Amino acid sequence: MPKSERTPGGLPQGEGISGEPVATSHLEHAARPASACAECRAAFQCSVLRSAATTRRSFPWRRSERSSYELVIAEVLLQQTRAEQAAKVFPTLVDQCPDWLGLASTPRPDLEELLRPLGLQRRRAAALQALARVVIERGLPARASELEALPGVGQYMARAIAAQLSSEVVAPIDTNVARVLERVFGPRRLADIRHDPDLQALALALVPPSDPGGYLVALLDFASAICRPRAPRCHECPAPACRYRRESMNSCRKSETRAS
Ligand code: SF4
Ligand SMILES: [Zn+2]
Repeated sequence: MPKSERTPGGLPQGEGISGEPVATSHLEHAARPASACAECRAAFQCSVLRSAATTRRSFPWRRSERSSYELVIAEVLLQQTRAEQAAKVFPTLVDQCPDWLGLASTPRPDLEELLRPLGLQRRRAAALQALARVVIERGLPARASELEALPGVGQYMARAIAAQLSSEVVAPIDTNVARVLERVFGPRRLADIRHDPDLQALALALVPPSDPGGYLVALLDFASAICRPRAPRCHECPAPACRYRRESMNSCRKSETRAS
């Protein structure tokens, strides 16, 4: 196999670091996420997992000895909030409310004060305590479908918790994950990420059954460090056969041709 067609891991190479063209068969199916072939999916998954060695971010809720309570609290804080912001509040919150009982019994004004740096503190405090009351009464379920029935827990959060807590093979898709997958594999069909059949099917097919939680963390870090919302770092990205990069390079070439 020529070096230009394979990554060191034996996967198909795209217009990545080498700048080599993608095989025609892989270009043909790249217009829609659902049509990505198994080889392209495996190559992307491998790139994301490998990138974790350099892109992994350190947050207090990522400690190996974190409790299920801490993981859920982190996911609640991360709603509509940058991880760096949530990380400023998280240690104080779990210090002063170390478990579900502590959270439920904290006076509401005190909890709102703790959450103030994140904004929306009244809503967040109410949501956290409503969640705490239900978990104290019924326990914390393990599966995403049951987690989604908890107050304030939507599709993404339920899946993110289940993937990391119980290694359930589910695909949490937030706007960052959607951005990466759409750039690489093609645009989704529906505006609502939660119901787009193409994106949902692709995202699930990419999850490695051996470590759904680790893959999610790697994908989020990849989205933050490499496939950034603005100015993605395509020149140093290991993802092969990326549609966005290919189209960017094609448009650059056309501009250069016109200018010469
Ligand atoms: S858009 Fe750029 S940074 Fe994002 S996956 Fe494609 S090549 Fe990588
Ligand atoms: Zn392919």
